Amino acid sequence: MRLDYDVLVIGAGPGGSTAARYAAEGGARTLLIEKRTEIGTPVRCGEGVLKTWLDEIGLRPSKEFVAHEVGGARVIAPDGSVFVVNAPRAGNEIGYVLERDLFDRHLAKLAARAGAAIRVHCAATALIQENGRVVGARCNHLGEDLEVHARVVIGADGFESQVGRWAGLETQLRARDIEACLQYTLVGIDGDPRYSDFYLGSCAPGGYAWVFWKGPGIANVGLGVNLSRVKDKAEARTYLDRFIASRPELAKGRVLEEMAGAVSVSLPLERTVAAGFLLVGDAARLIDPLTGGGILQAMVSGKYAGQVAAQAMRAEDASEKFLLGYERLWRARFEEGLVRNYLVKERLRNLDDETISKFIRALGDCNPGQLTIPAVLEALRAKHPELLSEFGVSF
Ligand code: FAD
Repeated sequence: MRLDYDVLVIGAGPGGSTAARYAAEGGARTLLIEKRTEIGTPVRCGEGVLKTWLDEIGLRPSKEFVAHEVGGARVIAPDGSVFVVNAPRAGNEIGYVLERDLFDRHLAKLAARAGAAIRVHCAATALIQENGRVVGARCNHLGEDLEVHARVVIGADGFESQVGRWAGLETQLRARDIEACLQYTLVGIDGDPRYSDFYLGSCAPGGYAWVFWKGPGIANVGLGVNLSRVKDKAEARTYLDRFIASRPELAKGRVLEEMAGAVSVSLPLERTVAAGFLLVGDAARLIDPLTGGGILQAMVSGKYAGQVAAQAMRAEDASEKFLLGYERLWRARFEEGLVRNYLVKERLRNLDDETISKFIRALGDCNPGQLTIPAVLEALRAKHPELLSEFGVSF
């Protein structure tokens, strides 16, 4: 069977649903396909987001998808030193813990309301290319072969993206740029649900452990370990079980859910555009390499991709040159921050527990007011120059 659309979006995560919504709002006949049978499940996420970015994609927080609101974050060093990032310090950027399955479904609903057609249980199996340009995708929908032709195809197929590679983009990752993650949702635990907690050091080599509260007594407790620092990804379980066992307030909890996954902690792809083709979100490696958070970048890049795809449709020009407008937008919005956080992550990856503890204690002294990385570095430069040289990065 053959279908014709202006825009085909592959993958209904936050990036894909947002792209489909904005493409449809821009007047493009849009199809969003998702290989799973249900959008949003199973959840593979810590579910934490900053508040302010939601505005940027025209979303208001809603009980429909927000599980819990947090007033701050605590960064906890191996020696127990704590650096608190509260709302005034972070410029009120503190966040929400989502019900990610409901959130993803909400975004897909917005795409449908804007006019996008949605097919679940529909997997792209190859791109259709003619004269060096992408013109659609071969799909399998409920066991049946389907050819979808479109002027613009948006790849939003997440961390394990194949679609970018099919389009000829360089998407390969090195082991040092991958975090293997494992998370339990624990119930019946104690702690302070006003904060999201991040534990650094050898409890999670090259990554961190997190406790993100979904409400009193219930939290996502997980960690990511850098693949260059462990024998294989299965070691994440050893580290997580050890982390939980060492904390009586968590060890008494019962596991409600368990999930494993991976995040890229690389630089963004060098190229995210080809003729007739755009790549967004995790597939374009737009995850923050320091935090592993990628929901918001996926949505914002999805918004830009949807808008540019609709413009391309109106201009009848889906050339690489035209679509590069998308790449300029996301680079202007967050490339600088992603690159800076990549450099910081590269240094943190190999720091020993003692240096990390010293660094967290020094951060506490800085009290920079507005907590941006340049402000922190400036404060460290003034008070603890020895730590900056230990970091070995000049900004
Ligand atoms: P995804 O959400 O991965 O969506 C891709 C979609 O494409 C999927 O639904 C998939 O089924 C579909 N798909 C794939 N291939 C095909 C195909 N061939 N045809 C059709 N459909 C296809 N980020 C945060 O901001 N905060 C967090 O707390 C956080 N915690 C995380 C914890 C873990 C353990 C992991 C693994 C990730 C975490 N992230 C977090 C990252 C976050 O989940 C991603 O950045 C986000 O989901 C990216 O959205 P996306 O739309 O690009 O991709």
